[in-house]
Amino acid sequence: YKINMNDLKLEGELGKGQFGTVQKVFHKPTNVIMAMKEIRLELEVAKLNQILMELDVLHQSKNDFIVDFYGAFFTESCVYYCMEYMDAGSLDKLYNKGVPEDVLAIIIIAMVKGLKFLKDKLNIIHRDVKPTNVLVNRTGEVKLCDFGVSGQLVKSLARTNVGSQSYMAPERFNVTENGYGVQSDVWSLGLTMVELATGKYPYPALNGKGGGIWEQLSAIVNGKSPSLPSDKFSEECCDFAAQCLNKDPSERPTYPQLLEHSFVKKYQDVVVDMKSWAEESYSLRQDIYKE
Ligand code: ADP
Repeated sequence: YKINMNDLKLEGELGKGQFGTVQKVFHKPTNVIMAMKEIRLELEVAKLNQILMELDVLHQSKNDFIVDFYGAFFTESCVYYCMEYMDAGSLDKLYNKGVPEDVLAIIIIAMVKGLKFLKDKLNIIHRDVKPTNVLVNRTGEVKLCDFGVSGQLVKSLARTNVGSQSYMAPERFNVTENGYGVQSDVWSLGLTMVELATGKYPYPALNGKGGGIWEQLSAIVNGKSPSLPSDKFSEECCDFAAQCLNKDPSERPTYPQLLEHSFVKKYQDVVVDMKSWAEESYSLRQDIYKE
């Protein structure tokens, strides 16, 4: 079903991204609530059409660990991307003071499976693995969003990319080593894991104006890799993070290797009440935002 603006009723802002807002919308013809991401982008019509064409592959590729894609359209100044509405929002606002190990395991396993699907089935690397790009719903499902499916969209956005916290692997700052490998996503996975577990981005933060960027980048490139506290997390859990955060990309495990890791084995048959965790974390999050 082709989606266009006239069929949508706007129901409020869900969040702000680097390139525009994300709105909750109601799609009248199908009665489906969706999240619509606006990406401000001035491009020639030919390139915009190319983006829509590239996004189209998502229609044939559903996966439990990837946010469903419903359709996209554009206007003169924006691309609109309609996707599954995830009613507990993104992990950055849900981890609060840190998530317990069993919940962490379910999240990390979902992320690895989602990333493996993107690579095996769509032949893409995510490029932007971080807590804001992992969404949760109140039934407890965990799914990835914001992956670089459209090469043209990635290229067009690259020129304007600015972030406040860097999840980029050390090798990506090496200007002589170009090309982004799947191993760089594994680093970002490890960094996300440490942040979720400890409740804190592990490197020096930037101030509002982007100051401190040098300290942050030099800590990533020259410093020791972040790690999990061994008194709070199991040996298997700490080792999983440590392997992802190996500074040598060629030493990082592949997705099949990660799925064979003792941390995954330990939790793969454990029933974790993700629904209660999602509901509770979501209500905590609302308390914070009321202040
Ligand atoms: P960024 O540019 O930082 O990656 P996004 O533009 O992707 O951020 O999203 C901004 C915010 O909107 C997210 O942090 C999240 O809270 C919310 N959001 C994004 N997609 C969805 C969705 N599918 N369902 C619910 N909330 C969403």
